[in-house]
Amino acid sequence: MAKPTTIEDVQVILTQPGNARLAVVKVITSEPGLYGVGCATFTQRIHAVAAAVEQHLKPFLIGRDVSRIEEIWQMSMVHGYWRNGPVLNNAISGVDQALWDIKGKQAAMPVHDLLGGKCRNAANVYVHADGPTPQDVTDRVQGFLDEGYRFVRIQQGLYGGGRTGSPPPEDAPDGAYFDPKAYRRDTLTMIEHVRSAVGPDVELLHDVHERLAPSDAVLFAKDVEPFRLFFLEDLLAPEDLQWFERVRSQCATPLALGELFNHPLEWRTLIERRLVDFIRMHVSQMGGITPARKAADMAHAYGIRTAWHGPPDTSPVGHAANLHLDLWSPAFGVQEWYRPSELEYQMFPGLPVVRDGYLYANDRPGLGIDIDEQLAREYPVHDV
Ligand code: MG
Repeated sequence: MAKPTTIEDVQVILTQPGNARLAVVKVITSEPGLYGVGCATFTQRIHAVAAAVEQHLKPFLIGRDVSRIEEIWQMSMVHGYWRNGPVLNNAISGVDQALWDIKGKQAAMPVHDLLGGKCRNAANVYVHADGPTPQDVTDRVQGFLDEGYRFVRIQQGLYGGGRTGSPPPEDAPDGAYFDPKAYRRDTLTMIEHVRSAVGPDVELLHDVHERLAPSDAVLFAKDVEPFRLFFLEDLLAPEDLQWFERVRSQCATPLALGELFNHPLEWRTLIERRLVDFIRMHVSQMGGITPARKAADMAHAYGIRTAWHGPPDTSPVGHAANLHLDLWSPAFGVQEWYRPSELEYQMFPGLPVVRDGYLYANDRPGLGIDIDEQLAREYPVHDV
């Protein structure tokens, strides 16, 4: 039997070309010149992820056969006995995506081909419109429509509406104070304004970002129902999942959830009970392509679609991985997109491009994306 290609080194590249601190894992193999890259970006705990990769996973991975992606994933998850969690899962994702990248390069196939081939030529994406007033939001939506986008997430004052009602008590610590009533009222007014301005065909989305108390969330989902959102995102926090039964019994507003999920135990019940319409996990937070494709297949069996998390705190490598899943999965719904800067396109050669609201992959083998390490070093991470 031919000697297997093995893992020779595992490196973490930390860089910050924009606001988010990014972590990319590079797996170097025993075959000269053959390596893979993967996203391990948990931007708020970036150094913990780097330590998990370099100090805990790497010693266990050196010398292992790169072809055995599933086995490496399973063993990485239980190797420290206490498994799961955002730090470990992101670390595992960096390795997992890099191994898929390597397998694609060995097979001379893009990852979507390895998964089973394309179900579509490109992925519909949604972008973010935010503004201080309903008219500002509408103007931004119109700008995106002019560029060819068909799906737009609309926020006024970003998360929580940016407006506080009553002042905090004396000597309260600094922080973001939130008025749920003002948020619900302002947001409804904004959604109504945008919908009446752009008409029924534009797909509008909104992200509550888990800001509401459960009973208020039920009311809000009912209130937005007439405006026909494509989906309402993160209406409730993962710890309040049982409240989704209540929302479902009261209205037909499509629901999306999942960016805070780490483990199948957290999304399986929602799928089995059909309590959400879209799963939108942060793919590196769940452990990479290996678990994401299983979630997509399970969602498909239950008529639920995917909308993988994709703001700037997913690295360009992670966005490429999202797109391969999108192109392959029959359960694809929509892809969140963040419009990378010129610098990011330079730093990450092969970063997917949008034309007329569709995200296109290149046909290169593997994930089809690389990192210019010299340029990445010129933009080291800093505290945010
Ligand atoms: Mg979100």
